[in-house]
Amino acid sequence: MAEIRCCALTAASCHRYGDCVQGATAFDVIVVGGGHNGLVASALLAREGLRVCVCEAREVLGGAAVSEHPFGPDHTVTALSYVVSLLPPSLVADLQLERHGYHVYPQGPYVAPRRDGRALVLWQDARRRAAAIAAFAPDDVEAYARWRHDMGRLGRLVGPLLGGIPPALGSHRPGDLARQAWMLRRLRSIDARAAVDLTRLVSSSIADLVEPRFASDALRGVLSASGVIGTWAGPRSAGTGYVMLHHHLGSLDGETPSGAWGFPRGGMGAVSAALAGAARSFGAELRTASPVGRIDVRATASGPVAAGVTLDDGTRLAAPVVVTTAHPQLSFLRLVEREHLPPDFVADIEGWRSRSGVVKVNLAVDRLPVFTAHPDPDPAVYGGTIVLAESLDDLESAFTDAVSGRAAELPFADVCIPSVLDDSLAPAGQHVVSMFTQWVPHTWAQDQHAAAAALAAYADRAVARMDAVAPGFADSVLHRQVIGPYELEHTYGLVGGNIFHGELTLGQMFHARPAAGYADLRTPVRGLYQAGSATHGGGGVTGIPGRNVVRQILTDRRRERWRRRLPVGRQSR
Ligand SMILES: Cc1cc2nc3c(=O)[nH]c(=O)nc-3n(C[C@H](O)[C@H](O)[C@H](O)COP(=O)(O)OP(=O)(O)OC[C@H]3O[C@@H](n4cnc5c(N)ncnc54)[C@H](O)[C@@H]3O)c2cc1C
Repeated sequence: MAEIRCCALTAASCHRYGDCVQGATAFDVIVVGGGHNGLVASALLAREGLRVCVCEAREVLGGAAVSEHPFGPDHTVTALSYVVSLLPPSLVADLQLERHGYHVYPQGPYVAPRRDGRALVLWQDARRRAAAIAAFAPDDVEAYARWRHDMGRLGRLVGPLLGGIPPALGSHRPGDLARQAWMLRRLRSIDARAAVDLTRLVSSSIADLVEPRFASDALRGVLSASGVIGTWAGPRSAGTGYVMLHHHLGSLDGETPSGAWGFPRGGMGAVSAALAGAARSFGAELRTASPVGRIDVRATASGPVAAGVTLDDGTRLAAPVVVTTAHPQLSFLRLVEREHLPPDFVADIEGWRSRSGVVKVNLAVDRLPVFTAHPDPDPAVYGGTIVLAESLDDLESAFTDAVSGRAAELPFADVCIPSVLDDSLAPAGQHVVSMFTQWVPHTWAQDQHAAAAALAAYADRAVARMDAVAPGFADSVLHRQVIGPYELEHTYGLVGGNIFHGELTLGQMFHARPAAGYADLRTPVRGLYQAGSATHGGGGVTGIPGRNVVRQILTDRRRERWRRRLPVGRQSR
């Protein structure tokens, strides 16, 4: 049998060399992917005293939570994700992330400037907000207060389910039945009214929810934007109601109202850096430029068992537990040999929908934009999220363009200027602007050459859209980085360009995320776990899959120890 060594290091340079050559396990756990979920898992596992190694394909850690310097060292852009809300405060405290540089500036109001020179601002101050809404439609003031109340109530009911491990609905195994009972207990505060409201919300389009309630195009536009963020669906598509609710589940700390978002100091990469700092402080080994080419699986009499990983360069790392946080179609269709996986699991993963049509446009500018609607500089406006969607129909047209195979004529954009709050991102007087835009055809994820010219023209239109509400903006641009579906898939590993590793639709949620019977973060291979955004609790910088997989691994280790102590004959799975 070939000798299993943990790496290419020699006896002189590796303190575990002795273990390796004796055939002992090199690591207790190997984590595939150093995105934020991989880092959360590695930190928590290392804190338990386990020997953990993270293998990240890219030269940098963070995955989709990454800060980059595409314009040189003076500017830091939050390349992909840009605002944090869903990371549980308890995780921040447990890992002492603030000691490792984690700091969040609360986001200001939603600001929706319009080409006619007006703007709807959803101010945090209730009276100011009411006046702004009334300027568009007086009846919407009361309707918006009811909306906030209703969404807050439904968010509080669903919120606790986001953090848990879903039970295997439909399974009759005793452990699974107990977990189903646990879920029902968590839902006991749902009365008949709430049950119907929730069902309607998750199955509705965001248009179905906002059009009967609100009169003004402006308010409908702002509210429907959160139903389509990162989604291959327009506001009239069923299921966008849930996407909106998903974006309202988080909170910055224990006290901020549910749904608050904020900008991490140093961009989203600083969140990953804080997680990496915590992981290293507990002893985890974090390797970059270490693409995993294969997850090693042994066939045994009791089924397939994880044995470690083999890197692209041939290095073999042995471990009885492997956690993959890569996109499920990479993990299970490329890294694990098909013979080890049951056909229905493979079919679920092959059928996994992973489209977005998102393009990220990051800019450095030599001055702040001056909005026609707010010519006097207002720090609150600049520290908010600028929503470029004047109506729900605006969004629907942008989506319809992309469905028809062309990039949106009038792109929707969610725009932030984090350097207004965070002086570490740009030289004094200059700023970085993050434009999260939609939609281009999702098929551009596979088609670099056909998309290149059209992508640049699309980015021009996104910048022009901002210029239309803040004249002179286009002239202020010093540098531009455009990241389309092709780069999302081929550089960042986001297959199909989906920002959440898979669409947040009803058929891909909770017990169905990502495959029937495997929403509990286990897989058909014993010892192989999954904890990327395509698992429940994922879809955003939440850290929840990374945290929950550790609970699952520790539970299974305890169970295994008990099983070994039982006399043969009384052992059951
Ligand atoms: C444009 C954009 C904007 C977004 N905006 C927000 C936002 O503002 N707020 C928010 O909460 N969420 C946002 N998201 C979503 C969020 O960023 C992701 O859901 C989340 O970061 C995914 O984390 P992860 O750790 O599960 O996976 P990833 O970050 O994708 O990490 C997986 C890692 O695995 C690595 N990998 C893949 N294959 C291999 C291999 N064979 N070997 C080794 N490593 C491998 C990848 O390189 C990657 O680093 C956004 C995403 C995008 C793309």
